[in-house]
Order: sequence, then C-alpha cells, then structure tokens
Amino acid sequence: MSHPMFTYDAELANEILEFCRRRLALAPVPLDFGSLQSTDMQGLRALISSTGTPGADVLAFFEAEIAPAVVSADSPQFLAFIPNAPTKASLLFDMVVACSGLNGTSWLESAGAVRAENEALRFLAERAGLPERAGGVFVSGGTMGNLSALTVGRDVGRQRRSHVAPHELRFAVSSDAHSSVAAALHILGISALIVPTDDHRLTAAHLEAALASDPHRETVIGVIATCGTTNAGIIDDLEGVGTLCRQRNLWFHVDGAYGGGALFSRRHEETLRGLRHADSFIVDPHKWLFAPLDCAALLYRDPELARTVHTQHAGYLDILHHAASEAWNPSDYAIHLSRRPRGLSFWFSLATYGVTHYETAVTAAIDTAHAAAALIRSSEHLELIREPELSVVLFRRIGWTSADYDQWALQLLRDQVAFVAPSTWEGESVARLAFLHPDTTLDLVAEIIESMNF
Ligand SMILES: *Cc1c(COP(=O)(O)O)cnc(C)c1O
Repeated sequence: MSHPMFTYDAELANEILEFCRRRLALAPVPLDFGSLQSTDMQGLRALISSTGTPGADVLAFFEAEIAPAVVSADSPQFLAFIPNAPTKASLLFDMVVACSGLNGTSWLESAGAVRAENEALRFLAERAGLPERAGGVFVSGGTMGNLSALTVGRDVGRQRRSHVAPHELRFAVSSDAHSSVAAALHILGISALIVPTDDHRLTAAHLEAALASDPHRETVIGVIATCGTTNAGIIDDLEGVGTLCRQRNLWFHVDGAYGGGALFSRRHEETLRGLRHADSFIVDPHKWLFAPLDCAALLYRDPELARTVHTQHAGYLDILHHAASEAWNPSDYAIHLSRRPRGLSFWFSLATYGVTHYETAVTAAIDTAHAAAALIRSSEHLELIREPELSVVLFRRIGWTSADYDQWALQLLRDQVAFVAPSTWEGESVARLAFLHPDTTLDLVAEIIESMNF
C-alpha cells in the first residue's frame, strides 16, 4: 500500500482533467475581473486543515472563487503590459511536463529533456544568426536572463580591464532599457553610462558620441541594447551598436524579452540582423512566442564563458561534471540550480504547429498594431505618439489627465471589454495597447477607441 498522498485517485484525476478540458475549450478565453472581483474568499482559511479537504471540493473552490479573481492574460482582450498568450498545445504539454515529474537540472538526470530544450534554443540561436556553438538555457524570465547574462559580461569585462578597479566598471545603456537591466546592474555592483538618444533609439553614433565625451570611457566593458522596448516597441540599432562592440572589444548584450518575437516576422529580418553580433541575447517565449509562464530563453555566443561563471561546485554535485564529456548541464548557464525543463512546452508547441504558424501569429499582432494606429490617426480626440515598430501602440487622448486614463482603464475592465494599462511617455500619461494574441479583433480595437470619446 502506497502512502495516501502517492496513491492514484482516478476520480480526482478525472475532475482535474475535466476542468482543464473546460478551460482549454473556452473560445475565446474570457477576460475575468482580477481584483475587481468582489470575493471575500469565505472558506479559504478552512481548506488547509490537519485532515485535509477532498480534492474535488478544493478544486470547486478554485473554480468558483479563485479563477475569476484573476485577469486572464491569455484572453485576446488582454492588452495591458505584455500579455501572455500560450498556445493550446503548449498548455497541454505543460501538463505532460508536470505529470512526468521532470527535473531539468543536469544532463545526468534528464539528458532527453535537456536535448529537446537545447533543440529549441538552437532553433532560436540560428534565427538570430548566432554561430553554431551558441547555446544557453531556459530561465524563469527576462529579469533572470538579463542578470545571468550581465554577470558573465561583467566577469569577462573584469578580465579584459584588469587595470580598472572592479567597482568602477560600467555598462553603456540607453534610458529606454527595461527596469530589470537597472536591477541587474544594481545587484552586480556596476553602474551605467546612460547614453543620450534623440528618439529613444540607441544607435552606434549615440554610443560613439557618449564614449568619446566620457573621460572614463575605459571603464565601459559592455553595451546593453534593446530589441523592442517594452513601452513602445523600439528596436535599437543592433547592427551598428553590435559592430562597434566588436571593434572595441565590448560585451554586447541584447535584451529581446518582448521584441525577440520579431524573429518570426519577415519584415523585421533586416532590423534584427545585428543580433548576430550578440555575446548574449534573451527572448521570452512566455511573451511573444506564445508559451506558458514562466519561460525565457538565454543564449550565449560562447557558452563556455557562462559555464565558467555560473557552475556551482559542491561535493555532492561533482558527479554531474564527471558523468560524460558531452554533458550539458542547464544549471551551469544561469543563476539557478534545480529547475523545471520549462522550455519543453515551447519546444512541443513549435514542433507541433510549425514555424509558419508562429510567423502568421506574430505578424497578426503587428498588423493589428498598424491598423490600430490608422484608427487613432483618424480619430479627432486622439493623437498617435509614434508609428508602431512592433505591436505596441502609444497614443494620447487630448485633454485627459492621468486619473482619466486610470478611470477609463478600470471601466473597460469592469465592462469586460478589455484590460488596458496606461503608461508614461516623456513624463506624460498616455494610453497604450500591447497586441500579442492573434485573435484580438479590429472590432475590439475600434470599441476601445470609441470608449475614449467622452
Ligand atoms: C518583460 C521584459 C523584461 C523582463 O522580463 P520578465 O520575463 O518579466 O522577467 C526585460 N526586458 C524587456 C525588454 C521586457 O519587455
């Protein structure tokens, strides 16, 4: 007899799988209410007890009380922040990963799973134009990807500039870089050379000018470029900045957490060509590559550099490094040890649907952004702030204050029309729509725009 917690309960399995079937079959996924849901969660406290509550009852509570109090990031009406729109196959396979109890820490434990994850990474590296030897690991998100990559960049920079005191080393970065970059530099004890730009886009000329006018330019060890800023979808001059980094022996990190999805947009091929210069690159499958949370791909041009920096050493882990010469331990390439092979859901979905479907889904969001921009331009009460480069649209409602935008956003959620979140642009409150789900309709966009006409 197994311990009760390890005994298969066919009835509970059916209940759970039925719930998953219902959730997966929702077409479209409703937005739901998030914090607007009035629930006092009566009974939540009592569920955890010494004798336990029947699983079916806990599940019923989840379905009735907890699930509706969460805005569904995978709804086509979710246009705030950067949405998360996992494909049906990726969600299903996430269940397979969970039920298989997979541990993606090392080659010794799960060579098969690691091999499949690495195949997905290899595919992304190839699209980015990185050399054959490139490789890395799936981590929890862009924040962890940036931190892990910049740790390697810092250590390489320390060696290259051994005459500079470690606390004086800097990365050059534009002021439009993601907040996680500032967080990473803070943790690493590295300060930033903020490169001024005239149009929020970091170019080789801006970088060159900033370096030329800085008396301490020899303290700069690398550059962080953004492939698709989160707020406005702006792609830095990757080719120019990357080339300059090569010439000056600077670490070139590209943050493509969101905009890296444009690897699947043919019209961005030229713009993204500079990715091939990257020493490290991140793209979040949980953003624009339609995978479930939480999943970021972290790639290094020379994985060996990362392995030297990130491998954890301990007596009980030695066997992982003795096991086989071809051993690829995902734990050696970022700040983590135990990990779920989270890249498998992305891998399964990509294999199942094929590249063309990814291309049409990514392109659909870009097309929707352009169509939204056209609608905004033709609305008298609105002003487009800039032509969208990817799938984010920034615009203003003439005469509105920050409070007006907030109230509008909450009303749209209350009415279950859409979830939008205002943003700030050059100090001013503005409206922002982030498109990602290929099923977001132009009718919805028109309805949102109409709702600002009061
Ligand atoms: C979202 C985002 C991040 C952070 O990624 P998380 O997965 O949320 O940790 C970093 N950089 C950019 C450009 C992003 O859009």
